[in-house]
Amino acid sequence: MTTPTASSTSYEIRPSSNPRTVTERAEVLADLKFGTVFTDHMAHATWTNQEGWHHRRIEAYGPLQLDPASAVLHYAQEVFEGLKAYAHPDGSVWSFRPEANARRFARSAERLALPQLSEEDFLDSVRQLVHTDVEWVPTTPGSSLYLRPFMFASEAFLGVRAAQRVDYLVIASPVGPYFARGITPVHIWVSEDYTRAAPGGTGAAKCGGNYAASLLPQADAAARGFDQILFLDPSGENIEELGGMNVVVIHADGSASTPRLTGSILEGVTRSSILTLLAEDGRTVTERDIPLAELVDGVRSGEVTEIFACGTAAVVTPIGRLAGTDFDVTVGDGEAGQVTRDVHATLTGIQYGTREDTHGWLTRLV
Ligand SMILES: *Cc1c(COP(=O)(O)O)cnc(C)c1O
Repeated sequence: MTTPTASSTSYEIRPSSNPRTVTERAEVLADLKFGTVFTDHMAHATWTNQEGWHHRRIEAYGPLQLDPASAVLHYAQEVFEGLKAYAHPDGSVWSFRPEANARRFARSAERLALPQLSEEDFLDSVRQLVHTDVEWVPTTPGSSLYLRPFMFASEAFLGVRAAQRVDYLVIASPVGPYFARGITPVHIWVSEDYTRAAPGGTGAAKCGGNYAASLLPQADAAARGFDQILFLDPSGENIEELGGMNVVVIHADGSASTPRLTGSILEGVTRSSILTLLAEDGRTVTERDIPLAELVDGVRSGEVTEIFACGTAAVVTPIGRLAGTDFDVTVGDGEAGQVTRDVHATLTGIQYGTREDTHGWLTRLV
């Protein structure tokens, strides 16, 4: 565990003149939906090529004024992160491996030709925002405060080059448990018409453009009656990941495998944490190419016993059914398997402070 240091407040706190009342907040916290309500404040900093990062502030949450020529609106120069703040039974508030998010944010920014924000600056923005809006961290079981740091090109300029003015913000949204009615499996459509990323592209960066490109394939899967889409690599041979979650396969001998990071897969913090936990559990964990044909055969023969998707929002999501143009298979009995359930219990136990954090994965925010 990392406890807070008496860090210098680089973010100037400018309290909102119009925060929600205690009653209004209680009403919101009693009926949580993902990503629809936001806290009273946001963190905000500005970068220019002349001044670097400056004007760090925690200010009232509210609309931004953007010039219509702002580069992000035309060329999608934007990156983001997603992490959560968890209330512990003793009232303290923690986040899970935020330094990993900070480092990934820096890698994403580099790929999108955006300026580097230091790990310290990233953590400070998150800490100051959560500190300011601590009353918004929900305490009902399985709920959390979802944090969305993001950075975008705000320079008003239509030429094609890296912007010389950039804004960085963190907004926060209280969210309820992902699985309100128990861990329910999803049905996955494997896309043969679309790919998500290619070698040398932006697949390993967490950027809005990747998501924009995944919306049509996702809608296509939904129209066929499926919950989510699984993307293949550009050769159409190996599985990669879902639109916003990585994939892990559990085999009958107890081993686990996951697609190796080829540069076109987003390296999830949840993925890496789960691989660590599975290995500590005595399982053989392999990062390799996983051909779709091998996976489908394995599900049919029973060699593959569980498949789950993983990411910060849901932690793990069991995959109960996998289908494409010429196959349709049920994984195991179509329900959440034991390994999936155990991983979910262990990881959420650490995040919510009910299991020992032996890896030093938690950072105290408040
Ligand atoms: C964010 C994201 C993930 C999951 O990453 P976590 O750090 O585990 O939340 C996986 N795939 C994509 C494409 C993502 O954007």
